Amino acid sequence: MSYINIRKVGNGIVIDTNKYRYALDKVPKNVSADIYMISHAHTDHLPSGRNIQVLSSKETLELARTRGYTYNALDQDRHKDIEMIENGHILGSRAFLIDGKILYTGDLNIFDREFLRGFKPPQADILIIEATYGKRRYIFGEYNRLIEKLIQTVYKSVINGTNVILEAYPLGKTQLLTNLFRNYNNLYVSKAVHKYNESYRKLGYLTNCKYNILNKSDITEPFLLIKGTNSRVDTSKFNLNTRIIRLTGWMVGKEDKGLPLSDHADFLGLLRVIDKVNPRKIYTIFGYSATFAKELQRLGYDAESL
Ligand SMILES: [Zn+2]
Repeated sequence: MSYINIRKVGNGIVIDTNKYRYALDKVPKNVSADIYMISHAHTDHLPSGRNIQVLSSKETLELARTRGYTYNALDQDRHKDIEMIENGHILGSRAFLIDGKILYTGDLNIFDREFLRGFKPPQADILIIEATYGKRRYIFGEYNRLIEKLIQTVYKSVINGTNVILEAYPLGKTQLLTNLFRNYNNLYVSKAVHKYNESYRKLGYLTNCKYNILNKSDITEPFLLIKGTNSRVDTSKFNLNTRIIRLTGWMVGKEDKGLPLSDHADFLGLLRVIDKVNPRKIYTIFGYSATFAKELQRLGYDAESL
């Protein structure tokens, strides 16, 4: 692989080598490539409008189908030059190592969480790394500490007669939350959360989780409800007070509103990944990619934002 050109096209990445053109994640419709790869089933990573053959995990293909995106699976045995590596973001999410040389992380998380294994990156010459939280102020702390705090807050609230609503992005985090609170006997989930829970079940996860599907006319208080960020719940209809806890990395410094429980790596997690990969060249992408590239340059790395 003597020639390598890497660039961002649309919300995806195109890599040209003297062998192939690779298209990663959400490239625009008019980009044609030899090999398409999809890291995970969040819509900002799913290319639309084509019946293309893609390299991706079977879980990603199934979750994408749930969201209305149908792809054909590319036979990985025919592409042994590409390795798919679990990256801990959501069910089925993968990093890609191309020719043992170029590593694309996709969205990543370094911690083991419920049924997900944290990202253990290989060494690579060129690293393309996500930078959603690539800014110094986004430090979340250890995952297990955050979970302990969340469990304590939830149980204290319901014991004191307060309803609790946990709010998060519907695909990925709410399934981890469903699994985490599966033994709580008055658990509700919104319809959107249930839809993705069912997809996870089909894939062999959440099979021992019991809960009620939210139906506003029939809800026992105090309750614990897990819902997606976009679904609205009118809390004035409940008899008891209701506490809403937002779970996203953007809650750093807003602890009165929620907890920085994220499916992404925080700033320090990204640095840990870079340390393990030990790359010669780094490209940053998504979120604070420009800020992160500057930070990395200051630390002595050869880094640029895509
Ligand atoms: Zn994602």
